[in-house]
This record gives sequence, structure tokens and C-alpha cells, in this order.
Amino acid sequence: MLWEHLYDAITLCSKHRILTDITTNGTLLNEETISKLGSAGLNCLNVSVDTRDNFSISNKNVLFDENIMQLLKSAEMKYGMKLRMNSVISNNNFDDIKLLLELSNESKTPLSLGFVVPDMNIVDNKDIYFSEKDHELLGKLISYILAKKKDGYPIIDPDSYFENVYRFIRNESFWKCNYPTKYGWINVIANGAIRSCTKKMDDTGIEFLSLTSKSIKSYKRSLENPIEKCNPYCYSNCAYDSAYYKKNKIAFVLDNFSKTF
Ligand code: SF4
Repeated sequence: MLWEHLYDAITLCSKHRILTDITTNGTLLNEETISKLGSAGLNCLNVSVDTRDNFSISNKNVLFDENIMQLLKSAEMKYGMKLRMNSVISNNNFDDIKLLLELSNESKTPLSLGFVVPDMNIVDNKDIYFSEKDHELLGKLISYILAKKKDGYPIIDPDSYFENVYRFIRNESFWKCNYPTKYGWINVIANGAIRSCTKKMDDTGIEFLSLTSKSIKSYKRSLENPIEKCNPYCYSNCAYDSAYYKKNKIAFVLDNFSKTF
């Protein structure tokens, strides 16, 4: 939301019927910015939220502010701007995950939960990452989340994302990422350039506004080989979900629409 051209870019996309989706930590959300996003025609707003209390492991907690949640829910009704929330599961935030699940259920806001993904450039730093020694904790976490999902809580991710985390920890190659090559999905960062993938924190140097329909296709093709190399270190829930629901379209409808409408 720091990008100075953000609202103009969304308006331009709306005019050309291009789906827009923003992920934000929510610190700049207020009555004015929510209204501007809605008026510009933003389709989806994904708010990262990790905790209820500032003094916990993260300060991403804006959706626990009742006023902001109310404004966002009103914007959903008024502009059709769909709200969802996402959070990261690490080996030390089970209590925060329980609170988030309740918030998601009470506010009828779809929640996506992803296991923390190691930084692509610092694969040895495992402080908050799960490992073989976390089997017991993972067992409790996964049972808890799947039980809530079975009770109708609007959790976006398929059951297999949680169940397969053991395979990820064992470094098995068992899923095919299609995230950055998925049709129509372009990731734009604050300076207006394109990032190849949200998990890579890179800057391709290609300006979003300079793209043409021809250059989009060749750009996406150029990403296919790099994906093969980064996959062993990544268990992104967005990417996993994209690959899973592309193959399981009926599951997508059942998991995502039956609980929120
Ligand atoms: S595997 Fe996919 S989601 Fe993960 S870093 Fe690579 S391109 Fe991104």
C-alpha cells in the first residue's frame, strides 16, 4: 500500500477487467484507504495477521481491531471487495493460531494458514522452522486445525497441505509449484516492478506498466526452470493450494465457497 500509483493501477486494472488481489500487513488500513481500495474496484484484499497482541512474535494484528474489521466487512458488502486473511504457522505460535481460527470463524472471513517457509537465501537458519523433532507438536497442530475445518471453519487450504508437512520436512519432492506461472497472476512490488514470487523477495527489474500481452507469456515461460530449483526449500501454502485446486476444482468450490456464502 506504499506504492504511490496503487489506486490508479487498480482503477486501470478494473477498467480492463483484470482481477486484482493485494496482500498487506494492514498497518495502513483505515476508513479512507479502505474506501479508496473499494472505489478503485479491488477484487480481493488479503490481510496478514499473526497474533492478537503486539508483544507477541509479530505485530500483524490489525484484524483484531473491531473497527477495522467492521469497515472491511462493510466494504465487502458495498464494493464486493472480498476479504481473506492469512497467517504463518511456526513452531512457537500454536496459541495465536487458535485465536485466529476463532476470529476467522466468527467474522466469516476465509483464513489461509501456511507453514513458515525458510528464506530462500538463508536455508540454514531454522530457529522458527519445523524439523523432525517437532512431530508431536505438528500432530497436535494438524489435528486441531483439521477438526476446526471439519466443523465448518472457513479454512482455505486443503487437508493435504497440513497432512503433507511431514514429507516437506523430510525434503521429499512431492508437489509441483505453478504459482508464478499460473495464468493471469502477476506480482507487483512497491516500486512498480514485478517480483517473480512472493517467497523470493526478488525484483525482476521488469516494470508492470511496461508489460504487453506478448511479453507476459514469454516472462512466465522464463520462470519455469527457476521453479524446479527452488521447490525443495519451499512449502508455500499459496503455491501448494494453487497447484492442488487446479487439479481438484470441485474441492476448491467445497472448501472455499460453501463456508463463506
Ligand atoms: S516453489 Fe513456487 S512458491 Fe516456492 S519459492 Fe519457488 S516459485 Fe515461489
